[in-house]
Amino acid sequence: MTSILLLGSTGSIGTQTLDLVREGGSGLTVSGLAARASWEDLLDQAREFSVTHLALTDPEAAALARPRLPAGTHLHEGPEAMQELILACDFDTAVHGVVGCAGLPASLEVLRRGKRLALANKESLVVAGEHLMAVARDFGAEIIPVDSEHSAVLQCLRGEDRARLKRVLLTCSGGPLRLTPSESLRHVKPEEALQHPNWSMGPRITIGSASLMNKALEVIELHHLFGLSPEQIEVVIHPQSIVHSMVEFVDGAVVAHMGLPDMRGPIHHALHSPDRPPSPVRGFDLQAFAKLEFEAPDPVRFPALKLGHECIRAGGDSACVLNAADEVAVQAFLDGKISFTDMNQVHRTALDQRQGDASSIEALMAADLRARAHAQKAVQNLATSGPASSGPAAPEPANHP
Ligand code: MG
Repeated sequence: MTSILLLGSTGSIGTQTLDLVREGGSGLTVSGLAARASWEDLLDQAREFSVTHLALTDPEAAALARPRLPAGTHLHEGPEAMQELILACDFDTAVHGVVGCAGLPASLEVLRRGKRLALANKESLVVAGEHLMAVARDFGAEIIPVDSEHSAVLQCLRGEDRARLKRVLLTCSGGPLRLTPSESLRHVKPEEALQHPNWSMGPRITIGSASLMNKALEVIELHHLFGLSPEQIEVVIHPQSIVHSMVEFVDGAVVAHMGLPDMRGPIHHALHSPDRPPSPVRGFDLQAFAKLEFEAPDPVRFPALKLGHECIRAGGDSACVLNAADEVAVQAFLDGKISFTDMNQVHRTALDQRQGDASSIEALMAADLRARAHAQKAVQNLATSGPASSGPAAPEPANHP
């Protein structure tokens, strides 16, 4: 049996992980569950899977849950609740589906325990990839990506000599606005940007799939996980989301990983790898696989895309700053404060004010806070200057790194 600790259990990754646990003969048990504030769902899950170790990071939610806890249940609460749960629980693999930079301390804690980290919280790698990979090495821990593209790359590289890898072709559906004309992008409403054609995911990543910021963050994630240079990473638009990524070797062979767009696939892989036990994920489907298209991305309509490569080249705190700015920008867009294309200006403003120190996790957390303040300021300026300013993003200064 594999015992799992589920961080972000009430979100998209969490509930799809529990679907896999529910399957007869899954060989999975749940030893701990953590959520932010959805205490009623958390208690339902605790009852269904007989889990006695729980965490709620939101103190108000924890106060509501406490009088209703099943007998013998221990609840950790407050900002440190996830780290406490990681230390208190016995588990083999932590599935980490928390959204945002807030998931970083939990990633570090799991790795320091020398456990397997099934990582859907890509922000941990984006914000502090070098530190995270070093902690994994030092503590003999393993990071298995749950992001579908990175899971695909890992599977394509299995048994191969990494020195023979030429490049990775990171596929991207293009999102719900792939065919939207440039001049219409600034009028896109949150509900339109939230309509992902293929994948069922949370709101931040879905907006990121519409702006292609999610792909920029995935470029950074790929760089850290596999030690790739920016020149070895190429983004390819593939609207059907059947090819989850491809690797090209120096002999010209291109190996692709294919499957229906179903997050349970990469979660199942991360839980069982290198084994491949049966799963409820469906395999080849003639209709879905019949037509596979690839095209080059459009960097003019989607300027966020190139920021991934830019941040790898610039190094330091740039990826951390980009992530913080995007968390602020997405929330402001969802709240109706700024337009879809204004998000590009928020990213640019924060990146242009970055300071560069990434020598420690503390330095990065300080950079994250500064970037959020710069991004909030940019949001206020855009919001007060009104719709007239909500045009296409300003061109990038030529001298920017
Ligand atoms: Mg992905």
